Amino acid sequence: MAKNTGMIVKNSLDALMNEKSFLPDLEDKDREKAFRSISAILSTPNHIHKSFLRISMDNGEIVRIPAFRIQHNNTLGPYKGGIRFHESVNEEEVTNLASLMTLKNALHEVPFGGGKGGISINPREFSVQEILQICKKYVRNFSDIIGPDKDIPAPDMGTSAREMDWMMAEYKSINPGHPYLGSFTGKSVGNGGSLGRREATGKGVYFTLQYLMHDFVKKNQRWLQEMNSPFAKTALSLADKPLELAVQGFGNVGSVAALDAYNCHKLNNKVIAVSDRNVTLYNEEGLDIPQLVKYTTGRDRELPLSEQELAEAGVKAEIMDRDEILYIDTDILILAATGNQIREDNVEKVKAKVIVEGANAPVSGEADEVLNKRASIVIPDILANAGGVIVSYYEWLQGRQTQFYSESEVFEKLYDKMKQTMDSLLPDFFGDPHPLRDNCYILAITKLATILYRHGKLY
Ligand code: GLU
Repeated sequence: MAKNTGMIVKNSLDALMNEKSFLPDLEDKDREKAFRSISAILSTPNHIHKSFLRISMDNGEIVRIPAFRIQHNNTLGPYKGGIRFHESVNEEEVTNLASLMTLKNALHEVPFGGGKGGISINPREFSVQEILQICKKYVRNFSDIIGPDKDIPAPDMGTSAREMDWMMAEYKSINPGHPYLGSFTGKSVGNGGSLGRREATGKGVYFTLQYLMHDFVKKNQRWLQEMNSPFAKTALSLADKPLELAVQGFGNVGSVAALDAYNCHKLNNKVIAVSDRNVTLYNEEGLDIPQLVKYTTGRDRELPLSEQELAEAGVKAEIMDRDEILYIDTDILILAATGNQIREDNVEKVKAKVIVEGANAPVSGEADEVLNKRASIVIPDILANAGGVIVSYYEWLQGRQTQFYSESEVFEKLYDKMKQTMDSLLPDFFGDPHPLRDNCYILAITKLATILYRHGKLY
């Protein structure tokens, strides 16, 4: 993944070099210099913090667990990004995810920089007591660099409100008398968390799809017909038909996006497949998503695995292998599981015409090129899954003001922000032959470069 993210940023920087909108007031020579500075800034994180957490296990054994906090860039505000508990965590992966956060925040004009944390464990192998210790130790070891105006962690894969609550409590006890509500986001409601934060990423994922396919494509069909872009042709081919969707991942992101798709009356949707770490469930007539959400809630979020469990859930579906979801004949595929799912070795089997990246980096750089050549529309992670960090920003604001918004206010603000970003991207995207990911990178980097230039950092 490291190579891929780097490669995509590099390609986009090349495209940016020819963009008139990149620091238009500069002479060519100065623009080139500014361009070299921004390339260097983006390819190097500001700080790499590593540590080992010494944890005493329930059986008395002492283990040393690698932990990271990478602070990529803070031009736009305090470093911001989740903490991931996953076996795949290593310095390179966390660094790439931190750089994605810099771009995600810049793209949506969230006044934060980019950071990311990670702990290299499979959380399912640890007891509640052990996870609590891990959370406390993480905060102790990184207490100097975390804080409401320095670096604000949040949940990511393998973490949730529970971990953020424990971490904030530890931060508070290390820094008595200091404001603490803004030190972590994604906390539970009632403990300084925001209404709607848990659902925010999934809501935003579905919103980007609906805004693109309904609000933009349906309303601009005539204009799109005049465009030469292959992506405009793909969008038009889906404009007048009911859409079939498949959703990979049925956790916080996938289940919320699937439910919004099921309930959406603007588009005539049918969710024909969903999957989790065990199975794919398929029904060409459409799955009963509310029943599946009801069934998985409170059961560690696992989908029915057998005919008996399907009957218990009251859901009609065919049970397939977990990875079959990627290859189903569907219009839309939402990737809301984990990174690196569509790769060079399996991209040829993927049939969806629109792919939405609910997870971070689920499509490898090589696979992305194949999808682009085929004119599949990929709604990239930094655009589609930014709902989480956008509502984190509103949570941070609410914590500072100690005044809280209703859930509908939170979602209204979330959709407004995403709509603004989409409006500044979509006409350019459909007007030229570049993939949407390039447009997102160009817009994000241009925003960042403009501020860096004004701060005197690009000379
Ligand atoms: N982990 C989420 C992301 O990758 C949310 C980050 C945040 O809220 O700071 O965007």
